[in-house]
Amino acid sequence: MKKLIIAIDGYSSCGKSTFAKHIAARYHYLYIDSGAMYRTVTLYALQQGIITEQGIDEEKLKSSLEYIDISFTFDPATLQSIHFLNGENVEEKIRSIEVSQHVSPVSKLKFVREKMVALQREAGKEGGIVMDGRDIGTVVFPEADLKIFMTASPEIRARRRYLELKEKGIEASLEEIKKNLMERDLIDSTREESPLRQASDAIVLDNSHMTLEQQMEWIDPLIRKLMQS
Ligand code: C5P
Repeated sequence: MKKLIIAIDGYSSCGKSTFAKHIAARYHYLYIDSGAMYRTVTLYALQQGIITEQGIDEEKLKSSLEYIDISFTFDPATLQSIHFLNGENVEEKIRSIEVSQHVSPVSKLKFVREKMVALQREAGKEGGIVMDGRDIGTVVFPEADLKIFMTASPEIRARRRYLELKEKGIEASLEEIKKNLMERDLIDSTREESPLRQASDAIVLDNSHMTLEQQMEWIDPLIRKLMQS
């Protein structure tokens, strides 16, 4: 059986990670959340005072990159992924509204992307992975076996994110969440360095009105066929 590289890109809060985790668990693949890596760098920059009201101290961030060690685990039984920053579990911190508000400007920086892309390629080089993000099918793994581009209406995405945060006990208003999603989408799709865009060979999945089960039913035959090729 061929060990595939499955790339899932798309807008913020489309359900990419939930979908990717379920695929990884079903096929015993490794799940890699590339957005969490950008979030971890952002958290570090916030903690170290590299991001202030005046903006990002790019020189300082550049010279700090070598001190940022990112690692992660994924448990297919619980579908839980945990990210570590220099050995500390930062899973909760990287999902905070503060990190969400600063992550897109950090992700625009070329030197940040270069380091993250190198880490992502290293983590996925053996195949048998599902990676989600914004540039996985276009930049990180342009030769991926299967590329999915996910989308859903902004209202539905904001509502899903709101419920997800609420479940984790994080308070935020629906309006605030929608504003953040739209801002991130705009920065992510208009930036100079590897902007969010659909790869020419990606298959679009609009899951606005699809359950997770329906999404799995949709992708299963595609994966099985590719595994046997
Ligand atoms: O996927 P998630 O919403 O956690 O990603 C957070 C942010 O990280 C995105 O809004 C985007 O700015 C950045 N990102 C990126 N490239 C990726 C994954 C995420 O620029 N491959």
